[in-house]
Amino acid sequence: MEEARGSCSSSSRVAVAATAAVCVIAVSGAIFYTHHRRLEKLQKQLVWDDKPQKRFKRVLADNFDSPFQHFPSPLTGSQVGHPYEDVIRGLAENPNLSFANYYSDNVLPPGMEGPCLWVQTRSQLEALVDVLKGEKEIGVDIEHHHVRSFRGFIPLIQISTYSTDYLVDAIALHDDMHLLHPIFANPAILKIFHGADNDSLWLQRDFHIYIVNLFDTARACDVLGKPQRSLAYLLQLYCGVSTKKIYQRSDWRVRPLPAEMEIYARTDAHYLLYIAQCMRANLVQASRNDNQLLLEVVRRSNAVCQQLYEKEGVGDSSSAVVASILGRLYNNSNSAMRGEEDAYLRRLVQKLVEWRDALARAEDESLRFVMSDAALLAVAKERPLTEESILSTIISTDELSRASETAVPGLQPLPSPSPVVQEHVGLLCDILWDFAEDPKDDVWPWRSTTNLSNPADSLYEKFCSILHIPSISFLWGSSSSSNVVLVTEKDGKSIGRKGQESWVRRTIPKKWRVGNAEQARLQFVKKFSCKAPVYHNCRIYAGDGRLLCFCDRKKLEWYIKRGLAEDMNEEPPAIRLLFEPKGRPEDENNEFYISRKSNRCVGCGESSHYLRYRIIPSCYRQHFPEHLKSHRSHDIVLLCVDCHEVAHKAAEKHKREIVVQFGVPLFAHRVVDGGNETAGSNEVSFVAEGESRGVSPLQLRTAAMALTRHGPTMPVERRKQLEEILKTYYGGREIGPEDLKAALIVGMGPREHRRFLKKRLQRQQRASNTNRSEDVDSVDTKTHGSVQMSQIVSDAINSIMDEMEDGTLLLPSKSNQEEKPELGIKSEADKAEKGSGSNEDLQADASGSDEDIKESLVAEPSRRHSRRSINKESLLGHGPHGKQVVDIIIEKEGDEGIRQFCQLWRAVFVDALQPAFLPPGWDVTHSGRREFGDFSVYKPPEGRDEQH
Ligand code: AMP
Ligand code: MN
Ligand code: ZN
Repeated sequence: MEEARGSCSSSSRVAVAATAAVCVIAVSGAIFYTHHRRLEKLQKQLVWDDKPQKRFKRVLADNFDSPFQHFPSPLTGSQVGHPYEDVIRGLAENPNLSFANYYSDNVLPPGMEGPCLWVQTRSQLEALVDVLKGEKEIGVDIEHHHVRSFRGFIPLIQISTYSTDYLVDAIALHDDMHLLHPIFANPAILKIFHGADNDSLWLQRDFHIYIVNLFDTARACDVLGKPQRSLAYLLQLYCGVSTKKIYQRSDWRVRPLPAEMEIYARTDAHYLLYIAQCMRANLVQASRNDNQLLLEVVRRSNAVCQQLYEKEGVGDSSSAVVASILGRLYNNSNSAMRGEEDAYLRRLVQKLVEWRDALARAEDESLRFVMSDAALLAVAKERPLTEESILSTIISTDELSRASETAVPGLQPLPSPSPVVQEHVGLLCDILWDFAEDPKDDVWPWRSTTNLSNPADSLYEKFCSILHIPSISFLWGSSSSSNVVLVTEKDGKSIGRKGQESWVRRTIPKKWRVGNAEQARLQFVKKFSCKAPVYHNCRIYAGDGRLLCFCDRKKLEWYIKRGLAEDMNEEPPAIRLLFEPKGRPEDENNEFYISRKSNRCVGCGESSHYLRYRIIPSCYRQHFPEHLKSHRSHDIVLLCVDCHEVAHKAAEKHKREIVVQFGVPLFAHRVVDGGNETAGSNEVSFVAEGESRGVSPLQLRTAAMALTRHGPTMPVERRKQLEEILKTYYGGREIGPEDLKAALIVGMGPREHRRFLKKRLQRQQRASNTNRSEDVDSVDTKTHGSVQMSQIVSDAINSIMDEMEDGTLLLPSKSNQEEKPELGIKSEADKAEKGSGSNEDLQADASGSDEDIKESLVAEPSRRHSRRSINKESLLGHGPHGKQVVDIIIEKEGDEGIRQFCQLWRAVFVDALQPAFLPPGWDVTHSGRREFGDFSVYKPPEGRDEQH
């Protein structure tokens, strides 16, 4: 230990050369400031990006609900119950009341001049164990981290002897901490803690360390009837030391630890030996010189040690969480909800709680980090149906609570929305949609149908595959390479190998995993795969008998019904056109277009399930010039979930390469209003990187949302701030109510806009039906009155007009011109592409409440162009990135550039998957060149947008 000894008292720190690299590096007062700046930077990095637990090899308590496996009893080898139960009971029955009493009476408490050593390497830890073996009493305190981890972990253990304070870096030494097991289990060494309840359980959970022979100064407080039981109080009382308890909540993962945090951590353990000695004297005095009170403290301390760690939140914990979240609502609102609505809200909160729980476990984050209770409740209440409005709901809710939070040194405020939610907001959106469509349908039966007490039963695997989380394996503890065995010593004797498996890092048995992973996979397949065969393989022949293309049944019916073709009575069905198409498709001779397509994974041939996969991501493709867009059937293939996963990962990687190559970020940084300075305009311009104009799209949306919803009620200060954001977007000019409305839908893609309108209509209806004044929505109605209502209706009309122009809305056609057959050129796969996506979505939108609006469409043609300037895709997705990339390619290399770009994507796909079942004629170098007939669907009046 000598060589590792260095002083790091606050005034002068000296680190010994041999350990300088790992110990606290010598810092003099002069360079303290810069040192601190560096720390701040480091800290920031660590808090958001680095999760040190990913490097832990031994994870005793994974994030599943499987029972915690305790260390086997060194005497019996039994894993049931406390491994040191007998030893602890023995201590309680025959307490050892001979204490070290290091400090002579009436001596001042020990100052902090002595050495403070960091223990950060295995050899240093071994040296520490050697030192502690010879001690009679040690003071111990433990810091815990629970923000960026589902169960939390111990980042730091402070151990103080009579002469030295040790700071044990439990992150760097996580996998070696069990070396301290013999010290803590040794009944000959008294461990002094203050309030060891949690500490004791954390030690078991992380390191299989059990405290035997404890003196808990918090118990002494209770027995002595002290007015307070905090350590801060005792430090003040016995040592005249004041501490800032705010550091309790600091981020103790930070390395190196900032000086003040280091002092705080030391202080927590340093005085314990002294305080315990004072309190023992007090206890003896208080019981008039017998040992009754002292014995009571020993008894209570032993009881603390006897507690066994169990995983928290096991079983039906979600209902408790749901109750507490709903409790928040009822406390805040002055009237109860109606029964039906209440049940509806409860279901949704339940669903969101389960979603949050699953996400927290899979990503190893605390529930709070994933999403605050307040935000979760707000999402459940407001049911936003677009990704952005979900994010804005979360932001504006957390915004309100942030004001009342105290800043904690060394702790970043929690980001809102959390990176986890940002990454998986799509899934959240799906949940809300699924729920809106069928509140009773259990789409996410994480808990309801599955018993999570068995990790192999877990649906998290499924969850992870949906989320594309590769790191889940560390939660499973699946890398079986390290065969860590805990060896404890009792009386110098190594314990036997009995029960060894349980305290070797546990691994999930292979056969178990496979079976249930399979089960989980099937669930996933059921939800996400195509519900019916994609290719019907119906054929359309020209009058001269040449095969024109393959298509679906609907298409055939369309021609037959109009007398444009005759049924050839074949299976799969085929028709012969009764007219000569004006132009034959250029692909007529391309094998790809005239071969039948199999309903199976093109990667591995799996035919029991498949999903559509877009080889060229839509964020690029949607911006291609029309004449290059036409070949999507070539670039949409069917893949099974496993191949889908492989292809998706390769595509994400290639996207990141494109980001670097083109210098175009994935998300739009800033936008400004590009309009003609007239109120209510909606022309969005991107701001080049480096320019300071404009605001981020998310910021703009959030501000507009908050102002619309809470504008009249929010503090004036806040409102000014938000209005400032809007002004910045509008280039600094004064803004009016029209601008607010416009800003709200800036950058919403058509799909999101539809969802938004649908949502608002529903709200309006609800509000006018119930007419409850405490409802935020009805406040909306009241303030803006009927003007607002008619605006919504006209917005809806515009939106539907746009869809008609886009050709995405399948209204029955009435007039002659449009009824001209499309020559059947639109091949089946082209059509299939829309199958489960926007069309269904659209049809759902066009039904029900929008029905009457549809009726009035024809009467309002002048509205047609008012929404034209609104962007066709969301500003918050990868759309803007795609547009910029495509623009660059076209500018530099024209069509040929786009063709090469497509070929590259196909090559990425082929490289990643080595697909063995591609249809005949499929080719990486597919040209995409094509001429158009007059009636070709590929020559629409305006771009057809894909919204995936
Ligand atoms: P202490 O016993 O004061 O050393 O605290 C040990 C650990 O408990 C700290 O590292 C925190 O993780 C946690 N903790 C204690 N008090 C609080 C608090 N008021 N808020 C949040 N965490 C706390
Ligand atoms: Mn502490
Ligand atoms: Zn496959």
